[in-house]
Amino acid sequence: MSIKKLIPANSVARALTQVGDRWSLLILGAAFCGMRRFDEWRKGIGIASNILTNRLARLTRIGCFEKLPANEGGRQIYHLTEMGRELFPTALMFWRFDRLWSQRHPLQPNTLLHMSCGQATVPTIICRHCRSGVVARDVRYADGPGAGMERLPPPKSSRRSSITLDDGAVAPMLFGDSIDLFGDRWTQLVLASFFLGERRYKEIQARWHISTNVLADRLHLLVENGMLQRRIYQTNPERSEYVLTPKGMDVYPIILMLTKWGDHWLAPKGARPLLLTHTRCGAELDPLVVCNCCDVELDPHEINFRTKTQEALTLAL
Ligand SMILES: [Zn+2]
Ligand SMILES: [Zn+2]
Repeated sequence: MSIKKLIPANSVARALTQVGDRWSLLILGAAFCGMRRFDEWRKGIGIASNILTNRLARLTRIGCFEKLPANEGGRQIYHLTEMGRELFPTALMFWRFDRLWSQRHPLQPNTLLHMSCGQATVPTIICRHCRSGVVARDVRYADGPGAGMERLPPPKSSRRSSITLDDGAVAPMLFGDSIDLFGDRWTQLVLASFFLGERRYKEIQARWHISTNVLADRLHLLVENGMLQRRIYQTNPERSEYVLTPKGMDVYPIILMLTKWGDHWLAPKGARPLLLTHTRCGAELDPLVVCNCCDVELDPHEINFRTKTQEALTLAL
């Protein structure tokens, strides 16, 4: 399974190509919580050595990590670069989604404390210009200077992973159950289509050139997980389309932050493929992640997670 044909240039699709697989997301999530060494990841997220070697090499090659000279014990340290650190707001949006919608993984930190205001916070996206909350229906899309067609490397496998976090994972981390949905690039691409206005099988297939069995599988999965609803819009012959449920709509903050990251790091010479306008104020949309209690932009140094046992987990960014 591969994307052999040209698809419309899209920052989300580019970002997912680089970091949108389950293990890369888990490695980055664990790095935000302080993991820096091969053995820490191997034990902490229950990843096999060969997969870890492969993903660390790729994340280093694309620029999310840099290797520091080995310490006295000869162990390699991987340091998050600015590019890697800038994925943190996206990770916060994954955490938010899980917090609101999933049955929580027992190891997942379940409270986020904003130290500046002293409140438990749910990170929220606002528009930098008008500072009001951003929802999908208030965002308009137009071709940007980087619009065009491109080829993207195919996902490694079209099969969904069935490994769960419990298999050997010991570290607290940002992702809960939703990693099973979001750690799959096809599932994310299918979801992203809905925010670009597509609802029908053929439209989604035409955009990404997904094979019919993979698309049918992902649509079924998203319906089963309560993120899409199938709706019949014509009876003779019967034709159906899919619409986002409130849970599905709540994926938008993740898509928005991935777009911002992809625009910044993966658009050649800053030429964004899509321009986003916030229709409530008419300004170009620059999404900011803020505390829902005090409206201040969340700085990783000003927040920490609390686990169920009230243990504080400070971020290492
Ligand atoms: Zn605005
Ligand atoms: Zn606050």
